[in-house]
Order: sequence, then structure tokens, then C-alpha cells
Amino acid sequence: MFICTTKSPEETALLAEKAGTRIREGTVLCLTGDLGAGKTLFARHIAKVLGVETEVTSPTFSLMNVYEGFCPILHFDLYRLNSEEELDDIGFYEYVDEPEGIVIIEWADKFLDDLPEEYVMVNFSRNENNDDNERHITFSCVGEKDADFLKELEKIC
Ligand code: ADP
Ligand code: MG
Repeated sequence: MFICTTKSPEETALLAEKAGTRIREGTVLCLTGDLGAGKTLFARHIAKVLGVETEVTSPTFSLMNVYEGFCPILHFDLYRLNSEEELDDIGFYEYVDEPEGIVIIEWADKFLDDLPEEYVMVNFSRNENNDDNERHITFSCVGEKDADFLKELEKIC
């Protein structure tokens, strides 16, 4: 587990791009944190460094967007979902249990019991005075699969 502090959207974007250069296909990234914490910005810059040229927007209404970069990138937003049945309806389990490419899940903590066995958790939190641009970004992994990725990322952060 390690924590990076960023002081602007640009610094978070750079961190995401570093993560994008080290991430492996098959990785599931679970992004947590309040509205406006920086989850979508982070997803956008991972996708950018993975060769996605179209604009990455929040899939809050579409629930899932698929981008083609150097590999497929599946971007979920579970904010509006309320039940496991709805997850099943959108094919969540098929996509995340044996992922092709990279899976990014915003609001993953709403469905902790439904996540795959191994994944990377990235939590975004603000300072107590909610109005400034500082974010504390905590990386941790569940399972061993992504440990090397996180070790490499920690070195270059
Ligand atoms: P979320 O997807 O978590 O709801 P977004 O990524 O859509 O959040 O929005 C984050 C907002 O916070 C953006 O408007 C961004 O410019 C702003 N922001 C300010 N400082 C930071 C920072 N250090 N890191 C990330 N975003 C920041
Ligand atoms: Mg978002």
C-alpha cells in the first residue's frame, strides 16, 4: 500500500499516465472516493496513455463504456446501480472475472462482494477543507496478481 498526494488535476493526470505505462492487461482497477474526487480524470489519463484517442467521459448514465486502445479498456461507473441483479444485467461478472484488456470500475466499493478475487484499489480523498485541489490517492492490491505493477508504480511516483 502506498499513498501519493497531488496538488492539481495535472498532477493526478501525470500519476494516471505513469500508472498507464506500467499496468498489465487483465488488471482490474477499482476507483473509490466521493463525487468530484478525481476518479474519472484518472481513468481518462490511463486511457490516453494506452492509446485511446476519443474523449473518455463518465459512464454514469451508460454504466459502461468500451474504448479501444492498445488493448480494450472497459470503464464502469456503478454510482447509479442499486442491486446485484442490475450488475448481472449489464454483464458485469463476465467482463470482470476474466478480463480481456483493462477494467476500470468507479464506485466499486458499492459492491465489494461482487468484485473479482484480485484487483487494485485506488482511493481518492480530499482534505478536510473540501475546496482545495489536494488529493490523497491510496493504492493497494487485493491478491498477489498486481503486486509487481504496484511496486513499479511506487518506484516512479
Ligand atoms: P469523480 O469521477 O471522482 O466524480 P472527476 O474526475 O469527474 O471526479 O472530477 C474531479 C474534479 O476535481 C475535476 O473537476 C478536477 O479538475 C478537480 N480537481 C481539482 N484538483 C484535483 C486533483 N488534485 N486531482 C484530481 N482532480 C482534481
Ligand atoms: Mg466519475
